[in-house]
Amino acid sequence: SLELKNLSMAYGDIEVLRNVSFTIAPGTTTCIIGPSGSGKSTLLRGINRLHEPKSGDVILDGDSALGLKPDILRRRIGMVFQHFNLFPDHIALENVALSLRNVKGMSRAESKERAMRRLVEVGLAERSEHRPRDLSGGQQQRVAIARALAMEPEVMLFDEATSALDPELVKGVLTLMAGLGGRGMTMAVVTHEMGFARKVADQVIFMDEGEVVEAGSPEDLFDRPKSDRLQRFLSEVL
Ligand code: ATP
Ligand code: MG
Repeated sequence: SLELKNLSMAYGDIEVLRNVSFTIAPGTTTCIIGPSGSGKSTLLRGINRLHEPKSGDVILDGDSALGLKPDILRRRIGMVFQHFNLFPDHIALENVALSLRNVKGMSRAESKERAMRRLVEVGLAERSEHRPRDLSGGQQQRVAIARALAMEPEVMLFDEATSALDPELVKGVLTLMAGLGGRGMTMAVVTHEMGFARKVADQVIFMDEGEVVEAGSPEDLFDRPKSDRLQRFLSEVL
């Protein structure tokens, strides 16, 4: 499980996250929605300490994330970004295999064998020898997901993983993510895809101005929004 306890974050003197608390139960998917600038990316960056929280804590399967070394923490929490951040000069297989060698210390042969299995899982067996530039955006994002999964993380974080994709490629990546959730991965998904949130999320968190305004089931938030802020947000995005 992933438990956020009164997480507050700032950039310099500017507070952007105030006392964010919620829990993601093991094997469940939480979708985080909210307007631009509400602090969704900052929240994910705080969870794996790409940006250090100011106060509060994150409990990862019983361990305080702030008590772990950042590199250990990032092995336990996989993250997928809007822009895929692949190594441009390496083929898909190497993009996955490299971190297995660097982070997990695997042999060349073992890393390639494991990487290939991950590419099969994300439906890219036929593209394993292609460089990122010779793959579609959706395929590049699958490689990024395969690379994160190869670390065998306890939790996966997705930040607008489909926002940079051409519309016809979005569905395939969302289906892959839904499948991961269905197979019991614990996930936090920041998304503008309200259809995905409604269908796949076990819990939806609505953030605005650095705070959690509403949290609950998809039915609670989408069918029975309580606050003006959520009602206004939904009327703009749906
Ligand atoms: P979007 O939907 O546009 O991705 P978001 O909800 O992810 O937005 P954040 O990127 O977390 O929002 O930004 C939250 C606030 O923090 C915003 O006011 C933003 O301007 C500010 N912010 C983000 N990154 C930085 C930074 N590196 N330095 C200073 N301020 C930042
Ligand atoms: Mg963002």
